Amino acid sequence: MDYQKILDEIYAEIKPELTRGKVADYIPALAEVPQEQFAMSLTLADGSFYSVGDSKQKFSIQSISKVFTFTLALDIYSKDLYKRVGVEPSGNPFNSLVQLEYEHGKPRNPFINAGAITVTDTLVSHYGSEEKTIQGIMDFLCLISANEELYFDPIVAASEMEHGDRNLALARLMRSFGNFENDVHETVLTYSKHCAITMNTEELSRAMLFLAFGGTDPITGKIITSPSRAKRINAVMLTCGHYDASGEFAFNVGLPGKSGVGGGIVATIPNKMSLSVWSPGLNKYGNSHAGTIALEKFTTKTELSIF
Ligand code: GLU
Repeated sequence: MDYQKILDEIYAEIKPELTRGKVADYIPALAEVPQEQFAMSLTLADGSFYSVGDSKQKFSIQSISKVFTFTLALDIYSKDLYKRVGVEPSGNPFNSLVQLEYEHGKPRNPFINAGAITVTDTLVSHYGSEEKTIQGIMDFLCLISANEELYFDPIVAASEMEHGDRNLALARLMRSFGNFENDVHETVLTYSKHCAITMNTEELSRAMLFLAFGGTDPITGKIITSPSRAKRINAVMLTCGHYDASGEFAFNVGLPGKSGVGGGIVATIPNKMSLSVWSPGLNKYGNSHAGTIALEKFTTKTELSIF
């Protein structure tokens, strides 16, 4: 298949969509990102990759980082992790407090904010401090993306903390139900830092490759996680990766994927490739407007959805 031609076509078709959607502004540092940008990359098992648009432009990966922290925590805690966080779609906005209250402080899944903060809490317990946890997450990300040059943006992390009342409230609510182990501020700071990691679509599609290939990086041969865990992580991406628009994403795109409010989306096509797309304008659910349409066009043109 001529992937470059398909990506070029998608880029041409997507251009009118780049003015639609709205850049996230509840984290002020993200509001400064110019909206009319677009990039899409895919990586194949032999290491070849294809890109279009601003694919070297780094952006805030935000909730995409939750795929990596979930993978790490699952490897550390195995099934015990599910005592702290479920795997059901929430059908609620990403930062909702309501469901957490009536479900006694156990978040529905690791990709809504409450669930991801719980996962971060388990990692802080494991690594022992905020600094060591961030180091552990960065080391893991460097391993899976075969790239030593990854960082988080301290300005975005600080901006999120300054406006992080909701995330702090979620953590406090979980603590009140006994589902929290570490200092609330330290844990939410760790969470904000991993959300503030910056990557481009080339790096992200490379980092997701192990999840398209049953947990083993097909380029290096390294086992990153077990096939069973890779299956479960993909399943949670499919059912919970786009908040309350997860059903719509499965319906229109038909791939396991995870979005972030920085405008990035990652997706896997099992045993074929991993993909990443970025465009900062978000739809009303907080998912990239043009990015979602681009992925829908990709699976339509290639007939490579999982269904
Ligand atoms: N750091 C963001 C928050 O907690 C992540 C949200 C997202 O990317 O969906 O609000």
